[in-house]
Amino acid sequence: MNTIDQESAVLNDLAKIRSAFPILHQQVNGKPLIYFDNAASNQKPISVIQALEHYYKHDHSNIHRGLHTLAERATVAYEESRKAAASFINATESDEIIFTKGTTEGINLIASTFGRKFLVPGDEILITTMEHHSNIVPWQMLCEEKGLELKVLPLLDNGEANWSQLNSMLSDRTKIVSIVHASNSLGTINPIKEIGEKAHKVGAIMVVDGAQAAAHLDIDVQHLNCDFYAFSSHKMYGPTGVGILYGKRKWLEAMPPYQGGGEMIKEVSFDQTTYSDIPHKFEAGTPNIADVVAFKTAIEFIDRIGKKAIIKHENLLLDYASKALTRIDGFRIIGTAPEKVGVISFVLEGIHHFDLGIMLDAKGIAVRTGHHCTQPLMECYGIEGTVRVSFAIYNTIEEIDILVKSLESIVNRLRS
Ligand code: PLP
Repeated sequence: MNTIDQESAVLNDLAKIRSAFPILHQQVNGKPLIYFDNAASNQKPISVIQALEHYYKHDHSNIHRGLHTLAERATVAYEESRKAAASFINATESDEIIFTKGTTEGINLIASTFGRKFLVPGDEILITTMEHHSNIVPWQMLCEEKGLELKVLPLLDNGEANWSQLNSMLSDRTKIVSIVHASNSLGTINPIKEIGEKAHKVGAIMVVDGAQAAAHLDIDVQHLNCDFYAFSSHKMYGPTGVGILYGKRKWLEAMPPYQGGGEMIKEVSFDQTTYSDIPHKFEAGTPNIADVVAFKTAIEFIDRIGKKAIIKHENLLLDYASKALTRIDGFRIIGTAPEKVGVISFVLEGIHHFDLGIMLDAKGIAVRTGHHCTQPLMECYGIEGTVRVSFAIYNTIEEIDILVKSLESIVNRLRS
């Protein structure tokens, strides 16, 4: 199929895509499920579910150490996933891919290894106000331990970072710039390549939190020229418990191991231990083999549809929903940057976001409510939380119409 055919396949054949997701075809609280909580975790196509089942039924064994056939099969399948992940983000080589538990562990790994080894008291780490707690707390812990300073780039009202302040906040003390590619609370897409260029000019490394970007944007780490890129399988139609950390070879080789144990060593004696080459140096112990293996099937699912078609469909949903929802009395979107992924965070005047979440759930509509692990961002907007609607490839315009009608009826009932 060429790209144009692929695009029409998504836009004209959503029913076929939806039929690949068993979980979507159920009633919740007596209504057909509408799943708009994709930024938290999206649903899994049958191919991924079957890949997990197939692995456990036919191929399971521990990896890398066995000589028997199942050990070989499991090892090959695990390493094939590494290759697929490398190709998905256009990494130069699969050795630059480390499997972790998720984005959170990826960032903690960088803080614990790169951060501990290379940063000295007085050094600075730069983030923005829109970061997820996973891209704040590991740096705070490192700062506390090593006497570093965490600098935070402020935002404009529309939810873009105030990039005009970037130059003045960077200096030769800045050693790490760590920025979210797409914000989970605002949807804002950040100009990673440009920020990275500036970070590199002062000698800092560029770390990217790609949790919300991997399933929704084209990712090319060579083009971005970032030093690290962390993301999570469960936000890209894959299993939970699998994270992917890309790191440039030169850094991964220079960094000390993250955890000690089996699998990450060349030789152990009581006098001295030598470590495996990358990527195994960073994968101590038995990893989450089955989920890593099935993650490759999630990548294949995304690749079959194509990022171009995914972006087009999700942009259509975002535009349609942003306009339709704005017609509701007292509705306000938090985050209106010109470049966004399919995330709409909103508040409705006079109605608590938790109440809205519960009332929407009663109508079969799953949304997320609260601070979305971005408490400093909420504080910056002077709010406690929002309702967040986030899209995936299987969402439809009809679902948005039902959401809008449901919100209107809730508003009318509560305000009458
Ligand atoms: N960063 C962002 C922007 C996220 O949205 C999330 C999860 O919601 C994370 C990091 C953490 O991802 P995980 O919980 O998969 O480690």
